[in-house]
Amino acid sequence: MTTATTNTTAKVFLKPKRAQPFFARHPWVFVGAIDRVEGTPADGDEVDLVSHTGKFVARGLFNSLSKIRVRLYNWEPDVPLDTAFFRDRLERAVRLRHDILKFGGPDAGYRVVFSESDFLSGMVVDKYGDWLAVQFTALGLAKRQEAIIGGLRELLQPRGIYLRTEKGIGKLEGIELHDGTLWGEPPPADLSIVENGLRIGVNLTEGQKTGYYLDQRDNRVAVARLCPGKRVLDSFCYSGGFGLYAAKAGAAEVLGVDGSEPALELARRNVAANGLTNIGFDCADVFKHLTGMVAVRRQFDVVVLDPPKFARNRASLPDAIKGYRRLHHLAMKLLAKDGVLVSCCCTGLIGVQDLEELIGQVASESRRDLQVLERRGPAPDHPVAISCRESGYLKCIISRVV
Ligand code: SAH
Repeated sequence: MTTATTNTTAKVFLKPKRAQPFFARHPWVFVGAIDRVEGTPADGDEVDLVSHTGKFVARGLFNSLSKIRVRLYNWEPDVPLDTAFFRDRLERAVRLRHDILKFGGPDAGYRVVFSESDFLSGMVVDKYGDWLAVQFTALGLAKRQEAIIGGLRELLQPRGIYLRTEKGIGKLEGIELHDGTLWGEPPPADLSIVENGLRIGVNLTEGQKTGYYLDQRDNRVAVARLCPGKRVLDSFCYSGGFGLYAAKAGAAEVLGVDGSEPALELARRNVAANGLTNIGFDCADVFKHLTGMVAVRRQFDVVVLDPPKFARNRASLPDAIKGYRRLHHLAMKLLAKDGVLVSCCCTGLIGVQDLEELIGQVASESRRDLQVLERRGPAPDHPVAISCRESGYLKCIISRVV
């Protein structure tokens, strides 16, 4: 690991007038902002980011293979990005979850480290009971995994640490990693957590994301409050999520729909583990299935829409918006009088204003009056670093459709 803080540290010079975002602590230095590099840093090495006049801005890790040429971690000069530094950053992240948010207990599931949101650009750590799932999306941190795993072991005492890789990231960052147990015992096939009194199975090795969608935890509680006695449709339900909460809260009936059979297998196991009887699942494409239910005039009192990310870049945004519009049109037709609509959107490029505008348009096109009851975001173990607002991605708008 590079520990040098002296004149051997390469300097990355910004172009004139490009330093402001980095003085404001944004962590991503794209190649277009850079004028020149003095020195010959290897990929993953520490570098100093300096203004065009040579003034120190911040210290980061260099990667010639990534469009994010430097990721910044530290704004104090002469502090190396060494084992002690990363140990301190991990400890900050753990303090938020344990001391402030009071997460803990043997069966708890929560996000321990959320990349930019925790000033550790390029890594995610989720804790599921005694196991940690770790994801590296930055080469510089992947190269320091020994130090990072040492820090996580010391701070969280897991039984095992499992590495999950994100599809496509190898190419974007030049990372060569493969899924597998990094340290300790491999995760058991029946690994589970307890979330708000529900036992939820987590497939850490093959499930989506790192096994479960922890970010929706508090939104599920907010929706469950509105479900007693109601007919609930949970679209894009994955392992049961909103539907399990609704069923436990006393919904009259719950239908979960997802296109993934392995996800629904997990969902059915969750139903059994919690002794629920008022919930069933259909494995189908949500667009087709909702269209079919509209055709036979099926009605629900609560409709949850929690689709996956529809757009990764600006070019795919128009199609993504069409998709959200189509889903909302279907939901309006399925919602009975005084229905509750839950619109989740994890596409970062669509802001809360854009989403509300879209909901408003669809409501008026459907000739329905709509009132927004709650504007929500992810649970607080998924914070938003104010210096990197891109880290806030999940919106959840709960409305009443008259
Ligand atoms: N609501 C869930 C998380 C949803 S993640 C929770 O609370 O945990 C998005 C889900 O959408 C995934 O499970 C994925 O399998 C499913 N999916 C994606 N596209 C789909 C489609 N067109 N039809 C049905 N399911 C789809």
